[in-house]
Amino acid sequence: LVSRENHPSRSMVSVRGVPIGGDNVTVIAGPCAVETPEQTLAAARMARAAGASLLRGGAYKPRTSPYAFQGLGESGLKILADVREETGLPIVTEVVDPADVELVAGYADMLQIGTRNMQNFALLQAAGEAGRPVMLKRGMNATIEEWLMAAEYIAQRGNLDIVLCERGIRTFEKATRNTLDISAVPVAQNLSHLPVIVDPSHSGGKRDLVLPLSRAAIAVGADGIIVDVHPAPETALCDGPQALVGDDIEALADLAASLAALM
Ligand code: PEP
Repeated sequence: LVSRENHPSRSMVSVRGVPIGGDNVTVIAGPCAVETPEQTLAAARMARAAGASLLRGGAYKPRTSPYAFQGLGESGLKILADVREETGLPIVTEVVDPADVELVAGYADMLQIGTRNMQNFALLQAAGEAGRPVMLKRGMNATIEEWLMAAEYIAQRGNLDIVLCERGIRTFEKATRNTLDISAVPVAQNLSHLPVIVDPSHSGGKRDLVLPLSRAAIAVGADGIIVDVHPAPETALCDGPQALVGDDIEALADLAASLAALM
C-alpha cells in the first residue's frame, strides 16, 4: 500500500489544511515537551516566527529513564489545544500507548509515532484507525524496509495519510546522539510514495547541528523538517541542548523564507 510500485506519483498529506509532500517543504517546530501553558505558547510563537506551519509538542514522552519527566498527559494535550486556538497552528503530538490513541486523536491534528515505538504493531494499527494523519519516525535500529513495513501496518487499517520521518539511527559514532541517515530520504522516496521529512534535532542532539542538518535535509529533497524550539532551553524538562532559541530562530526563518521562494 505504501510502495511506489502501485502508486507512481508522490503523495501529499494534509494536516488540517497544511500540506506535507507534493511541491512543499513544510516546517514543523515547537517544544520537545509541553511543560506549561506559557512555555508552550512562547515556543509556538517562536515556531511561527521561524516559518513553521505546524506546531510540535509532546504530552506523552517516551524517556529512556523512568525517573525523567514523562509528559503532562491529557493536561498537556489541553494546553496544545489552547495554543492552537491562540496561534492557529495545527498540532502534531506523540502517542505511546494504543489505549491512548482515541484520546490523543481527540486533540491532535496529526499523531506522531516515535522511534521507540516504530514496531509497536498494536499502536500502529490503532493509529491506522484513528482518523488522523500519522507521522511515523524511523526506529533508531530499523532498516528502511522495516520502516516501510511499519507504515504498511498503518495503511492496512485504511489510513494512507502517513508521513515518514528520518530521525537518525544508532551507529558507532558518539559525536552525535544518532547518525542522521540522509540517504534514507531519497531511498524511502524512491521506494514509497509517502512524504519523507527529517528531524535534525533528535538526530544530532545538539543545537549547533540543527541548522546544518536542516540544510542537508532540504538539499537532499526532504518534504519537510521537524525542529525543537524552546524559550528557555537551559531550564527545559526535556532535550534542552538541542532546542533552537534566539538568533537560531532568525536563521531558521531565513531558511524557511528561501524555501518559500523556491516554491
Ligand atoms: C520527539 O520527537 O519528541 C521524540 C521523542 O523523537 P524520537 O522518537 O525521534 O526520539
